Formats: sequence, structure tokens, C-alpha cells
Amino acid sequence: MKIGKYKLSIIESGSFGLDGGAMFGIIPKPLWQRTNLADDANRMRLATRNLLLESDTRKILIDTGMGSKWDEKSKNIYAIDEKHSLSSALGEKGLKPDDITDVILTHLHFDHTGGSTILVNGKLEPAFPNANYFVQKQNFDWAKNPSDRDKGSYIKDNFLALYEEGVLNFIIGNAEFDDEIKMIVINGHTFGQQMVKISDGSDTFLFCSDLMPFVSHIPLPYIMGYDLQPLVTLEEKKKYLKLALDENWKLFFGHDPEFAFATVKKFGEGYLVDKSYRSFEEA
Ligand SMILES: [Zn+2]
Repeated sequence: MKIGKYKLSIIESGSFGLDGGAMFGIIPKPLWQRTNLADDANRMRLATRNLLLESDTRKILIDTGMGSKWDEKSKNIYAIDEKHSLSSALGEKGLKPDDITDVILTHLHFDHTGGSTILVNGKLEPAFPNANYFVQKQNFDWAKNPSDRDKGSYIKDNFLALYEEGVLNFIIGNAEFDDEIKMIVINGHTFGQQMVKISDGSDTFLFCSDLMPFVSHIPLPYIMGYDLQPLVTLEEKKKYLKLALDENWKLFFGHDPEFAFATVKKFGEGYLVDKSYRSFEEA
């Protein structure tokens, strides 16, 4: 898939499990289990799906998955898939960590930034030694000092070393990365999350990150229990689902266990999935 000067590739960097009730907030299980089956601990499978954008001069990675710095207790709680990793997924595309020039982090939750740092002889280092990393300043400030409710989602080993090494660049508000790539700030899930819009005027992809982690989060009331401001998420969904419909955007899903991206259609006052795709080859 090509948009402007960029070739897009889907990077499947692994998967993990989260509680089904938390993933769907107020939605009753008899409804959500129609699309997302839970295991015997009531967990559902989440992909960690990243996006790679390659031009003649840049190799840009959006989000970095869970990473590999987990202890046994956490591996069990989160049912972390250890067979797949970001480095092996990049290796399948013929890429080494040195090749990545830029890493755009949508936010600093552990499932989006875990692969940003690695342990080398007991010391935390950037996993992509030649990359500039980008995050919203507002999210970094929150991540350093989160609330007692969401502090389990922000693990400082994943991002403080980037700051200390001087490779973490701060973005403030909506911003143009270049002609094709724009950052759009949303605040319902956490503070200062940025979605990444990739467009050349005819084709548009929105890496919508945790605004809608699964295709099944497209209907308006399907909002995660994790969200700090669920009514803000609701307004953000209304705004960006309308734009996705009106301008025929493809929504990229970072956590859907099956589908990488989808289009939407109107349904009453809300929205439903129209067409969903596992790969660019299917589109
Ligand atoms: Zn998140």
C-alpha cells in the first residue's frame, strides 16, 4: 500500500490478553462476546499491531508494542505472547533496529511503548539507536506522574531512558510531521494521546490507536473501562467516525485480533463497520 511517498507495511509485533469487561466498559458480556471471545480468565486477545512507513529517506515506526522486559508474574497476568516480537516482525521485512529513523508513539501506555527500550547489560537503552522518538509533551508529563487509577499502565522503564538519552522529541498539540503525516490529539482514553493520519489527498489512513482498539469498538457506546474521560472519548468517536465516513478514511486498528483496518458506514445515529481487512493485499 502506498500513500504519497510512503510505502505502508503492517507489523504484527505480538499479542496479549486483557479483561473483556474492561475492554468494553458498560457493554454486557452477552453483547461483546459475539465478536470477541474470552478465555477462562475472562481475558480477550489483543494484537499489538504497528505500522511501518518507508520512503527513500525515512523508515518510520508507529508504536512499539509490549517489548520484552516482562517478569514471569506479568507474563501470566497479561498472557503475553512470547513467540512474536517487534524485532522478529521487522526482521521479516528485512529490517534491523538500526534502520529505523523515527518512532512515533501514540501514547506511553506499556502496550504501545514497551518495545521502545531494551536492556543491554542491565542498562536501559533505546531499542532503535538511530531513531528520533516523538510523543505529545502532555502525555509525557502525565505518564511521569499518573493517577493512582492508571499508574499501572505507565511503566517508566519504557520511556524515561529515551528522555535521558535525548532522543525523545515533544510535540505540542495537533501537528504536521510532513506533507503526508499529521498528528491529531485526543484526550478521552488518556491525556495527550495522538492519532496519526496518513494521507495524500486521495487515500487516507487513520492510526486511531486506543480511541478504538478493535473493529468492534466502532459503535458509539463501546468504550473501554480504562478510559479516563469516557464522555470525551464519545465526542471524539463522533467527530472522527463522521470524518472517516464523509472522507472515506480507512481506520487502522492496533489491537484487533483479526482485522488490521476497516471502513465505516452509518447506522441510525451511529456507525458500524463496513468493510474490514486483514492485510493490504486484501484491500
Ligand atoms: Zn492506551
